[in-house]
Amino acid sequence: MSLIQEPLPSEYLGLSQDEMDRRIRQNKSRLGSKLVILGHHYQRDDVICYADYRGDSLKLSQLAARERQAEYIVFCGVHFMAETADVLTSPQQKVILPDLMAGCSMADMAELAQVEECWDSLEAEYGKEIIPVTYVNSTADIKAFCGRHRGMTCTSSNAGRIFARLLQEDRIILFLPDEHLGRNTGLEYGVKPEEMLLWDPEAQDRELPVQPPRLVLWNGFCSVHQKFTPDQIDQIRKKNAGIKVLVHPECSSAVVSKADLAGSTEFIIRTVSESPAGSSWAVGTELNLVNRLAKENPDKQVLCLNETMCLCVTMNRIDRPHLLWALDNLAAGRVGNQIKIDPATAGEARLALDRMLEISS
Ligand code: SF4
Repeated sequence: MSLIQEPLPSEYLGLSQDEMDRRIRQNKSRLGSKLVILGHHYQRDDVICYADYRGDSLKLSQLAARERQAEYIVFCGVHFMAETADVLTSPQQKVILPDLMAGCSMADMAELAQVEECWDSLEAEYGKEIIPVTYVNSTADIKAFCGRHRGMTCTSSNAGRIFARLLQEDRIILFLPDEHLGRNTGLEYGVKPEEMLLWDPEAQDRELPVQPPRLVLWNGFCSVHQKFTPDQIDQIRKKNAGIKVLVHPECSSAVVSKADLAGSTEFIIRTVSESPAGSSWAVGTELNLVNRLAKENPDKQVLCLNETMCLCVTMNRIDRPHLLWALDNLAAGRVGNQIKIDPATAGEARLALDRMLEISS
């Protein structure tokens, strides 16, 4: 969900990098332990350098919830991440997104009304217990929908454990909103392609198969990871003998099946960092992270599988001027761009998150 961001006051537009750096640091020290800045792994270098914590969206939200003395949580990520932080933190903590236009195209591909329509059709057709599972990269509304319907959230690290449990119980899984993470996990846990149903919310005259599917996939995707192709893997292997290809499971199943390894962002970071000196990696994930991995592992070759267009452009909207503006407001006692989820939605979304943690811990 992208909201309208007020234009930044003109005084922020002409500031030098040094001036912004000085003022951001000054605000941080003035606000002290009242402030925690969270930086998602895909964040740009000139912003993530101010983060008190770096990580994926769920880990950052859990860390923020533990920092109970912090009244202000500034989330340098995208909208759904700030929503999750608000769901998990205590009522006196305020979550701030420095640019409200920092949305996520994947999360926006599943709207609540569309998901409810899908749910009604599946229940009417199959009458069997269907469990909705949403990737944490989804809006609070969709997480709450899962909470209401005995469902749960998942991350790219624990999707496998959740699928294993539900498939063993012979449930139909409705997986939202990322087709690819759902398909890749389903294939890994023994669901055949013909046992999957792809749900297009825009389809007209839909006919459901008589045989109930084991897995219903919402046809959402990440605009960054969708850009990786099997052909890029062939090309990079041709040019770099011995290179290993490591991709995120938001890539298509054609890419994941051709890669040497696939896993979550934390898995990618760990795999490259722990590999021996001289290793060579082509990494299929967001470019800011790949470039950072290359810098932090100078004894290894780390390339992006596709160097032309793999930035998360919405996350990149959080830049130094927006961060400085958000911190200036806080230092002056004003809270701008607070992300607040209504208590009923937050309660149901928390239920979905708790069920995930129960199964995956
Ligand atoms: S990288 Fe993809 S899934 Fe992640 S925030 Fe950007 S668009 Fe959304």
